[in-house]
Amino acid sequence: PATQPAWASLVREIPDFPSPGIVFRDICPLLADAEGLAAMLDDLAAPWRGVAIGLVAGIEARGFILGAALAPLLGAGFLPLRKPGKLPGPVVEEQYALEYGSDRLQLQAGAVAPGTRVLLVDDVLATGGTLAAAARLLAQQQARVVGAGVLMELVALGGRARWEIDAPLVALLRH
Ligand code: IMP
Repeated sequence: PATQPAWASLVREIPDFPSPGIVFRDICPLLADAEGLAAMLDDLAAPWRGVAIGLVAGIEARGFILGAALAPLLGAGFLPLRKPGKLPGPVVEEQYALEYGSDRLQLQAGAVAPGTRVLLVDDVLATGGTLAAAARLLAQQQARVVGAGVLMELVALGGRARWEIDAPLVALLRH
């Protein structure tokens, strides 16, 4: 976009991480900057002000950082969507494809009451498989996904096409 927020320059591009040919977007410098962090959280919250949200669901692991900071700004609680083997007790899960193999997201059975209005949060939308799986997992629990917020959308990877929920997917930065 023509006008990027000032904090956008605090997202670092790391070539060839975690493997050759990948340009990794690293939000750690942004998280470490007091002004940038506050401004980014304000921008992340802005589209959802006035929207009733019961839970902000963050995707492990950077979605936890953003989501847990965002939830109180929106008067919501926080729900971690975790990688396998981390949560005690009965869990429900959703599988998604990776470039090689697959992964799963889990939440605790009964953690989301049917009809709960949930906002999904993650740092980066790449191929969209992770966010789509998170939405399916919540739908499986009869939650109402009211939208998704990500810091950055990697447009060339086309992840937005996999967002099949009839609710907005808002990206603060597009690359
Ligand atoms: P997707 O499923 O291909 O859309 O990948 C999205 C997931 O991978 C998110 O949970 C991101 O945190 C992570 N991810 C993908 N690319 C990057 C990146 O460049 N920087 C940080 N995280 C990334």
